[in-house]
Amino acid sequence: MIFLKKAGVRCNMTAPSPEIQIFPGFCDVHVHFREPGFSYKETIRTGSYAAARGGYTAVCTMPNLKPVPDSLPHLQEELSIIEKDACIRIFPYGAVTVDEAGEKLSDMENMAPDVVAFSDDGRGVQSESMMRNAMEKAKSLGKIIAAHCEVNELLHGGYIHDGEYARAHGHSGICSESEWRQIERDIRLSKETGCAYHVCHISCRESVELIRKAKKEGADITCETAPHYLILDENDLQEDGRFKMNPPLRGPADRDALLEAVCDGTIDMIATDHAPHSAEEKAKGLSGSAFGITGIETAFPLLYTYLVRKRILSLERLISLLSGNPRRRFGIPLEEEDLTAWDLSAEYTIDPKDFVSMGKATPFAGMSVFGKCMYTKVSGKTVWNGETA
Ligand SMILES: [Zn+2]
Repeated sequence: MIFLKKAGVRCNMTAPSPEIQIFPGFCDVHVHFREPGFSYKETIRTGSYAAARGGYTAVCTMPNLKPVPDSLPHLQEELSIIEKDACIRIFPYGAVTVDEAGEKLSDMENMAPDVVAFSDDGRGVQSESMMRNAMEKAKSLGKIIAAHCEVNELLHGGYIHDGEYARAHGHSGICSESEWRQIERDIRLSKETGCAYHVCHISCRESVELIRKAKKEGADITCETAPHYLILDENDLQEDGRFKMNPPLRGPADRDALLEAVCDGTIDMIATDHAPHSAEEKAKGLSGSAFGITGIETAFPLLYTYLVRKRILSLERLISLLSGNPRRRFGIPLEEEDLTAWDLSAEYTIDPKDFVSMGKATPFAGMSVFGKCMYTKVSGKTVWNGETA
């Protein structure tokens, strides 16, 4: 260094040479691409390019659409847009009940060949007998039920975690019990029926315990959590709609339990629950904004920065959580030359203005991360290389 200074050579220590690593294409089993029905929030086209930028070559789209894919003709509307506009592989969910209203089973039989699994995501299936019927049907069709677990009776108008922050700031809370009560019921039903059951976006420590126990007992159960539940908790909340999602950011003890569960294999995969909304819908603070944040472009950099670089998780294990494990559970093969390349030395600040997604609301805005997607290929064809290809 001294020699360099004397010689008048500037030694740039802040720009290390690129450290490019190539990974199997990521697979996100929980996204909302909003089409058909809500193309002002996101489209199959913008969602799939955002996914490609995030390193994903396969995603599963949730059925809270208009029309809800609850019959073959309704599903066909989504499939035809996917066929036309998707730049990556998209596997839709079929709804469990007609219009996700919880009152009548959807036409699961006719949709089964064209859907990855069944879910009423966005809401819980309230009736136990309805869920039992759905599981029996799914079992006979060889399909998974993926459940958003939420007991409506326990919500009491809540919109953030029923914890210290809510009490200190006069907000209505969502108790953890509203999540784990339904998981507890569904584990019992899954054991009774033998149906393969997957729990969406777990957020609290009680859910972890129930699933850990059920797995030990040999139940056919898997679960996912999302990056925000692993990296943030209620102490990070701000009076801003970009911190509002369902389930909500829980307490620090919940976050610790989720991290432990990711490390010991109780949590099988990390999904984003990418749920874009319009700027207006997210501009009404914690109480008035819509539930949901955008997340598919930031998942890998966040997890790499806050879990791998902090030595909570190995890079290899993170890739399993983002690709191998979800693919195995949901029967989504890694096709040849479906891959993504990342510069792990690139450091930058998350700026929603850069998002390809139409949804800009993220609690991670302004946070510094490592990891920039250099390119993503689907069947060897470049779909992202710094811009939409
Ligand atoms: Zn959900």
